[in-house]
Amino acid sequence: MAEMQTYIAWANDSNILGSSASGGIFQALAKYFLTGLSTDDVERTVYGSWQDNQRFEVKHLGVYKQEDVDLLIGSKYYQSRMEGIYPEIKKKLLNNQMILFSGTPCQVAGLKSYLKGSGVKEISKLLTIEVLCHGVSSRKVILHYLEWLEKKSGKKIKDLHFRTKKRRWYDKGSSMEIYYNDGSMRIMNRYADPFYLAFNHSMSLRPSCYSCRFAKIDRIADITIGDFWGAEKYIDDKQKLHNGIGLVMVNSDTGREFWEKAAGIITSFPADIQKAIPRNGAIIKPVKKPTSRQIFFDSLDMCEFNELIVKCFGRKRLMKIRIKGAIGEERIKQIKRTVFHRT
Ligand SMILES: Cc1cc2nc3c(=O)[nH]c(=O)nc-3n(C[C@H](O)[C@H](O)[C@H](O)COP(=O)(O)OP(=O)(O)OC[C@H]3O[C@@H](n4cnc5c(N)ncnc54)[C@H](O)[C@@H]3O)c2cc1C
Ligand code: SF4
Repeated sequence: MAEMQTYIAWANDSNILGSSASGGIFQALAKYFLTGLSTDDVERTVYGSWQDNQRFEVKHLGVYKQEDVDLLIGSKYYQSRMEGIYPEIKKKLLNNQMILFSGTPCQVAGLKSYLKGSGVKEISKLLTIEVLCHGVSSRKVILHYLEWLEKKSGKKIKDLHFRTKKRRWYDKGSSMEIYYNDGSMRIMNRYADPFYLAFNHSMSLRPSCYSCRFAKIDRIADITIGDFWGAEKYIDDKQKLHNGIGLVMVNSDTGREFWEKAAGIITSFPADIQKAIPRNGAIIKPVKKPTSRQIFFDSLDMCEFNELIVKCFGRKRLMKIRIKGAIGEERIKQIKRTVFHRT
């Protein structure tokens, strides 16, 4: 078993980078898997999560063509449905087809345990990629949020992207784009938007996420992908930081073999995982359940989404978070340094 290796990385193709949540690593690897591996005629399928914008539902989907990988890109911060996917993958593996399965670590674990008990011996044709994951919301939470937003704006929502690249990735990357039926679009700031506040403060997550067995340094998937928050300490180039920097953990021999083959389409530098952990707790441990989670779910059916957030945070704390967001973390650090003469 190979020793885990960690990289700071981003896709070389600017279209891939611009349309992905982070470093575009998933899209680059998935497209390479479908066409770049060899000239043999083995069938290949890439599985990942797809958002159905008619129903605002996320489900896993298998795609065969490079252009269809576009259906799977981007983070969706609510649970992806898996109905029928594990049996479909088993069937393909038994037919000697090659599979790239991507999802949350618990979904990768679910697939592996399903295959173990199902008589599939040949799993060398399976490559697994997991996103670093601090938790998912349920669909009920996002539907409640969208209902409030439509009421507030008086417009129908036709699409949402949880992570925008129209703001700087390194400090605003976790803001959401909302697309309305009249053709307009709004960017919801992560410090002000009620869905983001609940998600980022771990109030709206599913119960199992608070005791996640897969949030540890020994990863379940062949390759782990996430954000390299804090990359500005190691990379000077503002444009690169603007576009998104990924964290990649290569965890197995299968992962390593594939990662090395794909080296030409990704820029990467070895990195110390210890440097990433302080800004990304999901690498080593599950998130703590805040006491306000109980209030959140007890009140979900009774309050509008914005009122729910006031109830959970309290007006004073909410105001503090929003002011911090408006000023920006970097500026606050500068002010503290000036006022308190900190170096
Ligand atoms: C629920 C969730 C929580 C996350 N938490 C963290 C975190 O704490 N720290 C961190 O560094 N990164 C986290 N990420 C990962 C991060 O948001 C990026 O997805 C990751 O950095 C990969 O970016 P990319 O540009 O390579 O690929 P992208 O194209 O942006 O990502 C696409 C990949 O994400 C998968 N995916 C998207 N939504 C879902 C979903 N709902 N269920 C299962 N798979 C999904 C797709 O299948 C595909 O593999 C989280 C992602 C999700 C979905
Ligand atoms: S935090 Fe763990 S249990 Fe929750 S969705 Fe992510 S991998 Fe699954």
